[in-house]
Amino acid sequence: MEKITEDEMIEAYEDMLNETKDSWIQDYEGAYILKEVDPTAYDVGYSDYEDSVSDTTVIEGGDYDYTCDECGDDDADKDHVCDPKEKLVHKVDKIRGED
Ligand SMILES: [Zn+2]
Repeated sequence: MEKITEDEMIEAYEDMLNETKDSWIQDYEGAYILKEVDPTAYDVGYSDYEDSVSDTTVIEGGDYDYTCDECGDDDADKDHVCDPKEKLVHKVDKIRGED
């Protein structure tokens, strides 16, 4: 019996997966793959897609149309961390009524 290390076995397994990709990749949704593999490309693609569908308006409040209440960042997502400086500027703007 041939003895190989686990690293070598993993390499052989990955080679096999790469070679047989065409036969199993179709089990996965393209959107799922892009979102998992390249979330940035997914986000950029979403923005382009949204722009291209010009007769459709997205109701605000989703992840991609969220404006942060605290710092006023309209390109933020709900989990973003506010820039303390932006937060202060936004607060001052709000008080001045220039929001
Ligand atoms: Zn913020």
